[in-house]
Amino acid sequence: MTVEIICVGTEILLGNIVNTNAAYMAEKLAGIGLSCYYQSVVGDNEERLLEAINVAKKRSDIVILSGGLGPTEDDLTKETAAKACKRKLVMDEDSRLAIENYFAVKGVKPTDNNWKQALIPEGAKAVANHNGTAPGIIIEETDCKIILLPGPPGELIPMFEDSIIPYLESFSDKALVSQTVKICGIGESSVENMIKDMIDSQTNPTIATYAKIGEVHIRVTASASDKKEAKKLIKPVVKELKERFGNYVYTTDDKITLEQSVVDLLLANDLTVTAAESCTGGMFSARLINVPGVSEVYKTGYVTYSNKSKRKLLGVRKAVIDKHGVISAKAAEEMVKGLNLITRADVAVAITGNAGPMASEDKAVGLVYIACGIKGKITVTEAHFNGNRNKIRESAVAAALSLMRNCILEYYSRVTFGNKSEE
Ligand code: ATP
Ligand code: MG
Repeated sequence: MTVEIICVGTEILLGNIVNTNAAYMAEKLAGIGLSCYYQSVVGDNEERLLEAINVAKKRSDIVILSGGLGPTEDDLTKETAAKACKRKLVMDEDSRLAIENYFAVKGVKPTDNNWKQALIPEGAKAVANHNGTAPGIIIEETDCKIILLPGPPGELIPMFEDSIIPYLESFSDKALVSQTVKICGIGESSVENMIKDMIDSQTNPTIATYAKIGEVHIRVTASASDKKEAKKLIKPVVKELKERFGNYVYTTDDKITLEQSVVDLLLANDLTVTAAESCTGGMFSARLINVPGVSEVYKTGYVTYSNKSKRKLLGVRKAVIDKHGVISAKAAEEMVKGLNLITRADVAVAITGNAGPMASEDKAVGLVYIACGIKGKITVTEAHFNGNRNKIRESAVAAALSLMRNCILEYYSRVTFGNKSEE
C-alpha cells in the first residue's frame, strides 16, 4: 500500500509557513508501516491542484491532502478533489449539525460560507473535526482513496490520530509498534556505547538512537502480524534498556517530556521549585510552566541578567563577582543561596553562563554553570555547550532540568549518578 501526501497552500510555497503537516504525517505513516514515496506542495490554484491530484491518483493507493478546506474563496481542495473524482458536492447532514453546534457554543452566527464546509463529494465519508468547522473527507475510488484534511495542525493532528490512523491501519498487512526510551544526563556517544551489542545484533525489533538537545531517545520498533505480537517483541528490549540505563531513563512513555517528568517528581515528593536565570532569560521557568498543573510546585522565579540584579535581588556578593566572575560556580552557588532566602522553595535552580556570540569576562562561549540546591545541599555543574546562542541556551535549560532531576532522586531515593557533569 503506497501513500502520497499533497499539501495545499500558496503560503507554504512562498516559505511563509513551514510544512510541518507533511513531516508529521510522513512520520506517522512510516510508524504504521505504510510507504510514502511522494510528497508535494501545490499553491491555491485549481488547475495545478487538479493536475497534482490526477498524477497522485494514478501512482499511489492512498492520497492525503492537507489544507484548503476552509470557508473562503481560496480554499478549493474539496471542490478540486470532487472534480478529479467526477463527483458532485452534496450536503452532509452530520457535518451541517456539527457546524451549527460549533457556532451555537461560541454564541456566533455562522456566515453563508460556513455552510459550504458541510458539503462533501457524493458518496464520500465525512470525518468529524472536534477542533474546527471543516470536516475531514474520505473519498473511496476503486483504485485509490483520497483523504482531505484541514490545514491547521491543531485540527489535522487530532483528526489524524483519532480517525485517519485507525482507517489507514486497516490497509496495512503488518503492524508496527514503537516505544521510546527517553534518557537524560548522559550523551549520545555514551548511550550508543552502552548498547552497541544490541544495535549490532538488531533485527526485529530495531533500535535507533536520536540525539535531542540534552536528551537521547532510543526508539524500539517491532513489526508483527498484529499489534499484540509487536508489543510482545518490544517488551523485553525495553526492559533490557531500562536495566542498562537505570535512573538515566526518565520515561518510556512517548507523550511524557523531560519537564513533565521533572514536575511529576516534584509533585510526588511534595516539593516546590524556584529558579534564577541569567543567560537563559526565563527559558527554564517557561519549560516548567509548559506543564499543566505546575502551579502546585512552581510559585516564583527570577531573571537576573545584569550583575547588579544578581547582587541586588539575590545577594550575590561583590567580592565573589570580583574574584571569580559572574560566570562561575561560586556565583551560581550564591544565586541558589539567595533564592533560598527569598523564596523558601524546597528546590532552587540557578543558571549563569555565556551564550555568546562573544567571550564575556574572558569566559568561553558556551561555558555555563548550573546550580541546584535542595534543602541546603547545593550541587554545581560546569558545562561546555556548543552551537549558536539559542542552542547554548536550550542546552543549558535541558541540563538544568536533568541536574534538578538527578539531585531530587539522589536526595530522596539515595540514588547515585555516575558522571554528573557529562552532557
Ligand atoms: P482554514 O479553515 O483555517 O482556512 P484550511 O483547511 O483551509 O483551514 P489552510 O487555509 O490551507 O487550511 O491553512 C490554514 C492555516 O493552517 C495556515 O495559515 C497555516 O497556519 C496552517 N497550515 C496549513 N497547511 C499547513 C502545513 N502543511 N503545515 C503546517 N501548517 C499548515
Ligand atoms: Mg483556508
